Order: sequence, then structure tokens, then C-alpha cells
Amino acid sequence: MNKKVVIIGGGASGIMAAITAAREGCKVTILEHKDRVGKKILMTGNGKCNLTNSSDITGKYYGNDVKRIYKIVNSYPASQTIDFFKGIGLYTKEKRDGGMYPVSEQATSVLDALRTECRHLGINILTDCDVTRVIPENGIIEYTEYIRAVSDTQNNTGKNKKSGKVKVADIICKENGKIKYDSLVIAAGSKAAPVSGSDGSGYRLAKELGHTVIEPLPALVQLKCEGDYFKSIAGVRAQAEISLLIDNECMAKQEGELQLTEYGISGIPVFQFSRIAARAIYEKRKCFAEINFMTYMSEKQTKEFINDCKQLEYKTIEELLGGLVHKKIAVLVCKIMNLKTDTHVAELSKKIIAECINMLQHFKVKVTEANSFDNAQVCSGGIPLSEIDDTMQSKIHSGIYFAGEILDCDGICGGYNLQWAWSTGAIAGKGASRQ
Ligand SMILES: Cc1cc2nc3c(=O)[nH]c(=O)nc-3n(C[C@H](O)[C@H](O)[C@H](O)COP(=O)(O)OP(=O)(O)OC[C@H]3O[C@@H](n4cnc5c(N)ncnc54)[C@H](O)[C@@H]3O)c2cc1C
Repeated sequence: MNKKVVIIGGGASGIMAAITAAREGCKVTILEHKDRVGKKILMTGNGKCNLTNSSDITGKYYGNDVKRIYKIVNSYPASQTIDFFKGIGLYTKEKRDGGMYPVSEQATSVLDALRTECRHLGINILTDCDVTRVIPENGIIEYTEYIRAVSDTQNNTGKNKKSGKVKVADIICKENGKIKYDSLVIAAGSKAAPVSGSDGSGYRLAKELGHTVIEPLPALVQLKCEGDYFKSIAGVRAQAEISLLIDNECMAKQEGELQLTEYGISGIPVFQFSRIAARAIYEKRKCFAEINFMTYMSEKQTKEFINDCKQLEYKTIEELLGGLVHKKIAVLVCKIMNLKTDTHVAELSKKIIAECINMLQHFKVKVTEANSFDNAQVCSGGIPLSEIDDTMQSKIHSGIYFAGEILDCDGICGGYNLQWAWSTGAIAGKGASRQ
């Protein structure tokens, strides 16, 4: 008899686990509480899906056991992901820094390829099924099925025609169901981007099974900062180097395009260290970001510039600083320094000018909190890897596996998070089929 493998969650890791188990000859069912699978995949890479990264993974992941993360990813690396997608007819290309995308640059191509493969392998996909409980003793899952109304246009029987108001997405009733499994893969995601279905319910299921969950916090997210002035510089994009200071110690440095928003800082360099900031704030530690808006000027060149400033004494201070950084930043620095923007350089001492330049190179802002889970791409925290074995099987309940973001691992931007989902999904799917 074919082994029954049930997967909770039709995201990247769940679909990968399903395909792997089905290829091993199992009868596979995916339970997904949204009305379709793979919603988060469609959101990735700005709709282009940065599906993996072919560079060395050292330093690209965070978690409490980074060595274990490397071991897991190296056992199903990017090259295998690229081959897997090629095998299902989806070709990839490198865009930059090892970041791999579908050649179509459309996330829909990735999801279409995965769904077609599921169909080809006879994988049963039950959408609108919210898993509420796992009973490991009996190998049973309880779920609530949402029954949705059918729109007039789709309804051949004409049942809903009378009201004319029923929308396709309306849930008209809920039914409780049970399903039996031989092996189970919990691939229910995290709390990041709950609109995609990743609403944290996987953590609850894991806790009910006796697992620990390291407090999930938003990661790859914008940071909120103190300062009324942010409204005046919102929308500015600047090439900058940003240092993250936790309790006055520099914990990370990133260079790239910084985006200033009404409430704080954003952009890839901020995303990359946001998980460190979020956790430090959670631990009530002091968190600051120090911005260098003038990365193009060395220390020596800065000194020369300040010394030679008198040659530009016919300029106003706003005009002088405006030649170095975005005008809105120049105006802001004048304001903080209590200088009228139309003050001429001739009227200012070298010391004051040096202080203005110093502020542009060491602009310190207090980080107060990370933006919400709604805006986060991933979560830090989750189920500790110490609670699962090398096949992704729970050390508490045999026959139950975990895959994807629900585990304590988060990667930086660049395709590393989807790679974690593919790697863990493939390993868990194989384990579940053989258990
Ligand atoms: C805007 C955005 C852009 C991103 N861009 C990239 C990128 O370019 N490259 C990259 O590598 N990563 C990117 N990521 C991160 C990446 O998408 C995730 O790390 C990855 O998709 C996680 O896969 P997963 O299968 O673990 O979880 P998910 O994709 O979250 O899947 C979990 C699934 O489980 C379902 N589910 C949850 N609870 C239940 C339940 N109780 N019952 C039934 N179903 C349930 C959910 O509806 C969901 O479909 C991005 C994320 C976001 C939000």
C-alpha cells in the first residue's frame, strides 16, 4: 500500500516536500488554508522570484545553530535546486551576485511549474483547509474546511443567482474534517507577510506537539527610528554605509542604497541587518544606526575638502552641503546645527564646517523598533534545529517532519530564504517517504 504523506502548508517548502515524497511513490496530500497554494512565492523578488543563490553560503544565514544550517543547505545546495527546476522545465538565469531567477523573470512561472508537477504526480491539493490540530498518537490531523460561494459566472447550477451579491471569495460555511497520515510534514511558514497565509499557526501546532519556539521576530524589514525630522527627508534614496550599533558596539555594517521613510530607514542594507536590530530591541538593548552619506570621500579627502573650503566661501552652507549629499539631507543638517541655510561659508568657522561634514559621515539615529510582520519578508526565530534530526524529523514525535521558515533559520536577501525552503522541503519529503 502507498504510504500516506500529508503536508501542512502549500508554500515553497511544503510543495517541495510534496513533490519529493510523491516521486518516492507516496500518496501525498497538501492542506493549505488559503484559497490557493504558493501565495508567498508570487510575492518574492518583487514578483520576479529570486529563487536561489549560487554563491558561497557562508555568512548568509542566521539562527542559533548556523553550522547546522550550512550542513542542511549544503546537503541540498543551490546547484540541486537549479537542476530540480530545469527538470520540471523551468530554466533559470543569474541576475547579480549569484542571485538566480526564472528566465521569464516572473514568479508565476515558478509557481506554475511547481503546480503542474504536483498535478503530474497526482498530488492532492486541498485548499481552504485550515489545520487546527495534530494528534500524533493516532496519526490524525483535524482541519476546518472553508466552503466558499461560487460566483454567478462560475455557477452552472445557478444556485446563487438570486442574491447576485455573492463574491467568489465569500466563505459561506465551515466544516470540520479529519485526515489520517503515515508521515506528516509541517511546512506552515512563519508570521511574516500574513496576507500570504503565513499567520503563525504553525508555531502553535508545533508548541502543542511539545516543541519549543524561539520568539519569532520580523526580519528583512524596515526599521523605525526616533526623530520628527524623518517626514522632511522621506523619499530620499542615497548610497550610504550604515553601521548597526548595539549597546555602542558595532554589530554589522552594510553599504548600499539607503531609503529614508516617514518613520525611519529602509532599503536592502537595512533589511540585511534588521534581524539583529529587532532581536536587540526585543532584548531591551540600545540600538542605533550610524549613516555615512559620503562613502565616496576618504578620511584624507575629507580633511582636504575642509581645508580647501574657503575657495567656496561665496556659496551658502546649503549650497556647499548640497554639493555633497541630497539637498533634503543638507537642509536637515543645517537645521540640526542651528544654521540658517542662506549663511555664507565665508561667515562660518572651519570647525563648524568640519562638524557639518562629520554629521554627514556619522549621522546617528536611534532605532526604536522593527516594522511589523505585515512588512517583513521573513522571521527570525522558530523551532530550534536541535529538536529535529538530519532528516528534518521531530525528535519528539517520529513520523512528523518540519520544513521551511517555521524552523530557526533566516537568510539575508538574495535567494537564500527560498533555498532554505527548497533544501528543507526536499529533505523532509524524502524522510517522510521513508520513515
Ligand atoms: C515580499 C516578500 C518577498 C520575498 N522575496 C524573496 C526572494 O526574492 N528570495 C527568497 O529567497 N526569499 C524571499 N522571500 C522569503 C520567502 O518567500 C520565504 O522564506 C519562503 O517562501 C518560505 O517558504 P515556506 O514554505 O517555509 O513558508 P510559506 O511560503 O509562508 O508557506 C506556508 C504555507 O502554509 C500555509 N499555512 C499556514 N498555517 C496553516 C494551517 N494551519 N493550515 C493550513 N495551511 C497553513 C500558509 O497559508 C502558506 O501557504 C520573500 C518574502 C516576502 C514576504
